[in-house]
Amino acid sequence: MNRREVIGTVGVGIAAVALASTGARAAEKPIRWKMSTSYPPKFPILQDGCDAMAKKIETMSQGRLKIDVYAAGELIGPFDVFDAVSQGKAIQAASTAAYYFPGKVPVASLFTACPFGFTPDEVNAWMYYGGGLDIYRDIFKAYNIYPIPHLTTGTQMGGWFRKEINSVDDIKGLKFRIPGLGGKVMAKLGATVVLTPGGEVFTALERGVIDACEWASPVQDLRLGLCQAAKYYYFPGWQEPTATPDLWVNLKAWEALPPDLKAIVEAACIESLTMSNAQGIVANSLALQELVEKRGVILKKFPDDVLVALREASKEVLEEEAKADPNTKRVLDSYTQFQDKIRHFRDVSEIAYYKAREPA
Ligand code: CA
Repeated sequence: MNRREVIGTVGVGIAAVALASTGARAAEKPIRWKMSTSYPPKFPILQDGCDAMAKKIETMSQGRLKIDVYAAGELIGPFDVFDAVSQGKAIQAASTAAYYFPGKVPVASLFTACPFGFTPDEVNAWMYYGGGLDIYRDIFKAYNIYPIPHLTTGTQMGGWFRKEINSVDDIKGLKFRIPGLGGKVMAKLGATVVLTPGGEVFTALERGVIDACEWASPVQDLRLGLCQAAKYYYFPGWQEPTATPDLWVNLKAWEALPPDLKAIVEAACIESLTMSNAQGIVANSLALQELVEKRGVILKKFPDDVLVALREASKEVLEEEAKADPNTKRVLDSYTQFQDKIRHFRDVSEIAYYKAREPA
């Protein structure tokens, strides 16, 4: 066989394989998932991010995996997604924040946000290179849920208050909408904590059912109209230095995917995570400008002694949570060990740079 014949034979072979593969793809029935979220319809970055990711997965998979996305309440309620994904009947996937479900899984809050904990980049480092995601998946296996981090709010704001916070005493008796561990910290300082879904926060604050709330970052807070119900907007968001909503997939639905579709979903999630962070920096900067310059919002930093009290109360809450639940201890051990591991480098790199960039 001469060289041309060899190339010709190889060429035919490749063509045959390609044809067989196309044939198999054509015969393969497209997979269709229903995905419900915990966010209001057309909500910036969060719901929009879910819609964009579903479209990208459909394109990348050449239509082999199509995900129909439903906002909170369109198919099921915002806090019903845990059971629904776990059962895998009404929906196969959800986008939500694990910290809405400490009643189901006590450690869940830590997978979304930790008071005085990691920033967006740090949490990604812990999840993917510090063992965090392995532990998360191992714990959620018991609930038939496969989690993949896929959005970030970036570092949040401290929240909306109808009255100024000048001392720790001002927190006592405050009816405060704040989920997750931040809520437990606020409760320790005397606040009455409630968990109101995003879509109902404005009405609760406007009617005085609550005195204060934290929701997310300026772009989401502006969309909810919170500036019309309270004028003091506090920072920093000690309670959620980042919040990472995840894609939750029913474990059986996940395991039924061929390896290339699994890789596409995982890659689309990482893309969505990265882009939500980049998009958030721009959108939040513009939204903050609008809130302060056009909506009469008074931007305030929490007093230093309030931040110290919050930091100390956070430490106590985390210690209590770890004592009460072995999984929380397991996650917190991993979290704090990783925090110690990266602290020195973080101090001399990004943190030192932030301080050096601005005049004193
Ligand atoms: Ca929040």
